[in-house]
Formats: sequence, structure tokens, C-alpha cells
Amino acid sequence: MTAPDRSALAARDATDPLARFREFFELPEGVIYLDGNSLGPLPRIVRERVAKCVSEEWGDGLIRSWNDAGWVELPETVGGKIGKLIGAEPESVVATDSTSVNLFKVLSAALVLRPERKIVVSEKSNFPTDLYMVEGLKELLGKGHELRLIENPSELPGALGPNVAAVMLTHVNYRSGYMHDMAAVTRAVHGAGALAIWDLAHSAGAVPVDLSGAKADFAVGCGYKYLNGGPGAPAFAYVAPRHQDEARQPLTGWFSHKAPFAFDHRFEATDGIKRFLCGTPPVLAMTALDAALDLWAEVDMAALREKSVALTECFIELVEERCAGLGLTLASPRDAARRGSQVSFAHENGYPVMQALIARGVIGDFRAPDLLRFGFTPLYTRFTDVFDAVGHLEEILRTRSWDRPEFHARAAVT
Ligand SMILES: *Cc1c(COP(=O)(O)O)cnc(C)c1O
Repeated sequence: MTAPDRSALAARDATDPLARFREFFELPEGVIYLDGNSLGPLPRIVRERVAKCVSEEWGDGLIRSWNDAGWVELPETVGGKIGKLIGAEPESVVATDSTSVNLFKVLSAALVLRPERKIVVSEKSNFPTDLYMVEGLKELLGKGHELRLIENPSELPGALGPNVAAVMLTHVNYRSGYMHDMAAVTRAVHGAGALAIWDLAHSAGAVPVDLSGAKADFAVGCGYKYLNGGPGAPAFAYVAPRHQDEARQPLTGWFSHKAPFAFDHRFEATDGIKRFLCGTPPVLAMTALDAALDLWAEVDMAALREKSVALTECFIELVEERCAGLGLTLASPRDAARRGSQVSFAHENGYPVMQALIARGVIGDFRAPDLLRFGFTPLYTRFTDVFDAVGHLEEILRTRSWDRPEFHARAAVT
């Protein structure tokens, strides 16, 4: 098979049903942005809405805006918009805190629902913060909980058993882009009497997700990646309606209280998903995420997935044809059905190669020890961007232009 040429890809851009969404983003001239899986770009509407929130709601409205501008309901308003993207039932998602903190809450809730069981199963290749949160929680509980890590997804059935309380997996792996079959895995987890916790950091806004259809128990995810909510945007938490009456989480701040403004000295948990809130919502950040989510109302997720698969296929084909023999190895699933919206290639000089790409305006990222990671975001990435990015990659590798001292210097964030 020969990889497509640039004019064929330009023709594809011309008939792309999602092409019109690119206009909604502020993308700098000369940049091919392949890192929307790590930090989404700025939607134009966010600049306007945050400016309005600052000058009118905060500046003029002052404290009245908690009621008049709907600030106090933002966690549920924003959560409701996210819920529609991930197949959640109404009133089962809140936007709040960070993904790490929300994991702590849902993990705690899962362990309370399975008090006799002591094991949490996850993957060694999961995003480290997910694993760190389990470690902190089990130390705090001091009840002999164990974190059991599998090396690859095929080991999951063998890791289940009568003492497993919960299985906590990231739906799309942050390194390889491997995507679990959420419904099948959840079924197996339930078959063993355990609860399924899904991290949707690389799924929400990237691939179709059906939490309700899969009968997921809990989920968390990120606001600043494919949802474009801005650096450090609030994250979200999902609790299946069937668990909401019984579920408890230990960060019992006043926003999870039945009547926060009664100022009672005793804690009494509120009903429903709001129990998973803790303190005052960060209104400016919440407003940015809220505005960014409005773009999704018009997005057809099936079309999004179709384009995402086409972009990643095209990238893999082009890299394997044009960069053959230049030291790259595909580190993502070849089967599109098992791949999220990103592609990783391993290269022994991955770090300087990525720095050389970034210097040319092709922005992806690097994950130690050797992965070049490229995110493909169908709302603003064009097929010609894929072609041009591979052209730069090929040139950098052929000329070894990555091997300059400035490209070897490591920054704090890679
Ligand atoms: C990005 C990401 C996080 C980030 O967590 P924060 O608390 O927002 O820093 C957590 N888990 C996964 C799987 C991620 O991809």
C-alpha cells in the first residue's frame, strides 16, 4: 500500500464534515498542534466568556453573581455538559477538583461499597498519579488494602477474584493509546463481584464513550485535554445513579453538605452526585471549561471518531513509509478499534527528536524513556497537517538535525 500524497489529503480536508470547527479555535500561525491530548488549544468563545465573567459577573456583580450568574450551580451545569459526551445519565456528573482528587473520592466510595474486599486492580502502565492515589488511600485506611498491577490487559481475567473490590483502569492509555473495550471489561469486573472505575482523561472528547451502556460504576476525567477547558481546568467525577444513595466520599466539604448555608456544625451529606463536591468551585476556570464545552453541542461523535481513526491511520502509514529505516517503532495498537485518538512511536533519541520537531512548529510531546507522542484532535487537525508533520519528522531524522545541544536540554515539563 502506498501512503496518500498531499493533494489527495487536501481533497479530503475540502470535504471533511468537521472542517468548520477549526475556525472556533485560536491556533498560532505556522504551528501544527498535535498535543491537544495534553493541553487543548484556546477556543475563541472562551476568551470572550472569561472576559465577560471577569468584568461583568465579578467586576460589577460582585458577590451577587453566586446567585445571579449561576456560579454556585457551575459544577452541575458543566458536569451535565460533560455527561452528554460520555454517555452518562442525567445528574450523574459534576465538574470539580482535579482528576487525582476525584480518583481519591471515587476509590474511597468504591471501597466503602465493598467493605469485605481488599484489592484494587490496575495496570502498571496506568498514568502514575492514578496509582499514587491508591497508594495514599490504602496507607490512610490502614486496613491492609493491596494494589495489584497487571502488565498488560490480557492478564485482567486472571487478576480478578473474590477479594478484588475495584478495578481502576484508564480507558485510553496515556502512553500507547491502547483503548480498552469498556463494556466487556466492566462485564468481567462485575462478574467477579467488583466495581469498575474508569479514568476518561484521554477519552472524553476524543472517542465515543457510553458509561451508562457499559454499566460503569464510577468514572473521572480531565477538563484540559480534549475538552479544551484551559491549563489546570476542573476535572469531573461520575457516579452511576444506582450507587448515589449509598456512595460516600471522605472529602466532606461544605459543598457536599445538604444545606451549606445553614452553617450547621454537623456534617450531613447532600443527596445525589453533589455529594462528590468538596469546596468552592474555581469560577474563572469553570467558566472557561463551560464555554469550551458549548462547541460540543453540534459535534457528531460518530463523525469525530471516523475522522480520528482516519487521521491516525494516515499518520501511521505516512511515517512507516517515509521514515522507514530511521529508527522509529510503532508503540500504539495497529488495530484502529483498540486505539484512541493518539499515536506513539518509540525512538532511542525521542527527547531531542521531539524538541527538534517543536522548534519547527510541530508540537507533540515526549514520554520517558523513548516515546514520541502525537495527539490527533479531529475538531482542528487537518489531513494536510498530518502530511506536513511527517515531512518535518522525516527531514529531522534524515539530516540528524535533532542532534544539537539545545535539543538535548531537558525542561521540567516534557
Ligand atoms: C492527564 C491525566 C491525569 C491528570 O491528573 P491531574 O490530577 O489533573 O493532574 C490523571 N490521569 C490520567 C490517566 C491522565 O491522563
